[in-house]
Amino acid sequence: MTFHAFLIKYAEIAIKGKNRYLFEDALVRQIRLALEKVQEGFETVKEQGRIYVYCPAEYDEEEALEALKRVFGIVYICPVMIFEDCGAEQSALDIVAYMKAVHPDYAGTFKVYTRRAKKSYPVPSMEFSAKMGEAILEAFPNAKVDVHTPELTVSVEIRDRIYIYSTTISGSGGMPIGTNGKAMLLLSGGIDSPVAGYMIAKRGVMLEAVYFHAPPYTSDRAKQKVIDLAKLVARYSGRIRLHVINFTDIQLYIYEKCPHDELTIIMRRYMMRIAEEIAGKSKCLGLITGESLGQVASQTIQSLAVTNEVCTLPVFRPVIGFDKEEIVRLARKIGTFDTSILPYEDCCTIFVAKHPVTKPILSVIQKSERKLEEDIDRLVKEALSTAEVIEID
Ligand code: ATP
Ligand code: MG
Repeated sequence: MTFHAFLIKYAEIAIKGKNRYLFEDALVRQIRLALEKVQEGFETVKEQGRIYVYCPAEYDEEEALEALKRVFGIVYICPVMIFEDCGAEQSALDIVAYMKAVHPDYAGTFKVYTRRAKKSYPVPSMEFSAKMGEAILEAFPNAKVDVHTPELTVSVEIRDRIYIYSTTISGSGGMPIGTNGKAMLLLSGGIDSPVAGYMIAKRGVMLEAVYFHAPPYTSDRAKQKVIDLAKLVARYSGRIRLHVINFTDIQLYIYEKCPHDELTIIMRRYMMRIAEEIAGKSKCLGLITGESLGQVASQTIQSLAVTNEVCTLPVFRPVIGFDKEEIVRLARKIGTFDTSILPYEDCCTIFVAKHPVTKPILSVIQKSERKLEEDIDRLVKEALSTAEVIEID
């Protein structure tokens, strides 16, 4: 037996008053987008303070659930069976049919909870629940009623038809995409930045992304890997506009002019400057990176401070306090790990010094950057104007 609908539950505490509409409307929109990709015919509606997804006559339940589980803002998904309203006697038969399909041979404790959304329904909720409970007891002799701490709650919603559900599947939580503006993700081919993008998207933030490519030092396959990672993140975040910046000339110029132990930090500052430039044009209100404190030389607290100094937008570093293990666990959970560990380098090793500075001093770095004055503005402008834009859906 397949389910006819899904009841979508979301955390309501956080969304009082006016925001509730914005939240619900965004959630409905994201559910529609997610299910469109599964197949046609799902119908998502907001009715009487509930969000229901009505399913087509035939559909792949597992795929539909997988899609719903990736929609931020959903706390629980309850698969529902819907029966025509032909009076309480018939409903008693229907609830037994439901139990036989969903919990065959049920032998635990249970209660029936009825919610009368249709106020004109002639039987009061309590009486209706009692009637349903009796029918279940008769059909399942080993089951027992426990109204206080039942192992199973069978919920009935009386609407124009009779809705029955009793199981809940956990959703992603978070907030629907689009309820919290947009931010620019610095997306490399590594493990950390896709996870960082996922985490900020989970707070309702739409993503745009930038990748710094350095051909021929970084290969086309490295670029394809970043595109693939963006696609994987987009399964949660929805469409991502990916800007691919050709960073080669800037890197070579820094390599030529600046002390090699400062290359990484100066490169990172230019990445942030360029990302912020694109962010401004795309109405992004923040930057996102996969930096984690102390992970590598460019991520010591001193390095982060010096990198951050070029930014005026807030920089979100959601994995800042995570150990690698914790980031890997999340990467596996969201399905980006296997792609992230493919061996194509996202940053050419010739540009990485053997002993990079780990405690850069801002004034020293600024002094080194002054050696770039002659040509760097032109190179940055050129990188921006030749950016390739890829729409990831
Ligand atoms: P990741 O696993 O995300 O690549 P990492 O541990 O390799 O991170 P770094 O290479 O120091 O760390 O990069 C730190 C952050 O800077 C990355 O998480 C990412 O947000 C950004 N970044 C680094 N290289 C690039 C790049 N080529 N294009 C876009 N962003 C980059
Ligand atoms: Mg990296």
